[in-house]
Amino acid sequence: MSPVAIIGGGPAGAAAAITLARGGAVPLLLERDATTREKVCGEFLGTDAAEALATLGIDLPALGAVPVRRAIFAAGRREGRFDLPFPAWSLPRLVLDEALLAAAVAAGADLRRGVAVTTTAEEGGAWTLRLADGQLERAGTVVLATGKHDLRGFPRRAAHRSIGLKLPLAGVPIGDAIAVLACAGGYAGLQPRAGGGANLCLALPEGTPGLAAAARDPAALLALVAAGSAAGRDLLRGAEPFWARPLAVAAVPYGYRAPGDSGVFRIGDQAAVIPSLCGDGIAMALGSGLHAARAILAGQGAAWHQGAWDRHVRPGMRVAGLVDAAMGRVPGAVATLAGWLPGVARWAARQTRLGGAGA
Ligand SMILES: Cc1cc2nc3c(=O)[nH]c(=O)nc-3n(C[C@H](O)[C@H](O)[C@H](O)COP(=O)(O)OP(=O)(O)OC[C@H]3O[C@@H](n4cnc5c(N)ncnc54)[C@H](O)[C@@H]3O)c2cc1C
Repeated sequence: MSPVAIIGGGPAGAAAAITLARGGAVPLLLERDATTREKVCGEFLGTDAAEALATLGIDLPALGAVPVRRAIFAAGRREGRFDLPFPAWSLPRLVLDEALLAAAVAAGADLRRGVAVTTTAEEGGAWTLRLADGQLERAGTVVLATGKHDLRGFPRRAAHRSIGLKLPLAGVPIGDAIAVLACAGGYAGLQPRAGGGANLCLALPEGTPGLAAAARDPAALLALVAAGSAAGRDLLRGAEPFWARPLAVAAVPYGYRAPGDSGVFRIGDQAAVIPSLCGDGIAMALGSGLHAARAILAGQGAAWHQGAWDRHVRPGMRVAGLVDAAMGRVPGAVATLAGWLPGVARWAARQTRLGGAGA
């Protein structure tokens, strides 16, 4: 097999590296951060993420993950509560990403940290990767796993772009629930955080009133979310931010699905971006990493991988898009429906599990 280079050591890149290494390859895994960093993410792991992680040798309880058993949807004075139809977990990305990279190294991958790829060029089926320090790497196969960050030459186009924010909090009585709280411009997610406290995370369309202030100031972010629902107000009343300002990421292209002809194996957020809290991006990252690696080991091309993965995620992405639109436009109706017809809410939650199963 020709040498495989994986650009990006998030969940997608690490899953691909572990699978390729187990299959006898020695993938080169290039990660631009020298040490694992916080990422804007709700850190919710559904049943498909847990299954994929088990396949990759990651034991969630052993890493300290906390169970999430219930869901709350709230908008204004309306509120719906239901039990999740599957086991779910919360685990900080710092812990998860580090465990996955360690597993990749243990499996035999060649991990290089603090190495950013700036450009790629292909000639006659051979790839040259230029690194930020000017060095070159060569590969026969390239896996694009840069997640939220686009590599030059591989733009992701989407009709709408959002700004994502994350802020861990103390003093939030969230218990074992994930709360989806309507607010100006959309909704926020709140869930328990392993090690104590809760994780507040949201992604709102660029230009949402109050979003710029919320990205700078924890108090403004808490006020924005608390204003959207009575449940949000109650949950955030005694909240104490752990950080001086929220972590932010710009230009999140929700709904993006990669074309089938880019010449590289696109995985994770570079393959498809599902609306947060309506579906699990991490599960999709892991599942697409497994899918691409198995395709490479079987001698399949990038276009085959992209087409098959896209067919796998398309129906669930549609359901997630509908839930996302409904939460944006008629959040009160969604909260009421979730309370009155929890079976429907559980059905929708199941439809948007798009990780490894069946891929
Ligand atoms: C607001 C918000 C909330 C979310 N909440 C959840 C949630 O609760 N549960 C869930 O499952 N998903 C959630 N997601 C989605 C989830 O965060 C992503 O889907 C997931 O991180 C994708 O994994 P990835 O490996 O594709 O990319 P990433 O996790 O972004 O990893 C990409 C890696 O590539 C590296 N990299 C980037 N560019 C280069 C380069 N040029 N050279 C080398 N390395 C590079 C980066 O440093 C990074 O480590 C959320 C997303 C947002 C925006």
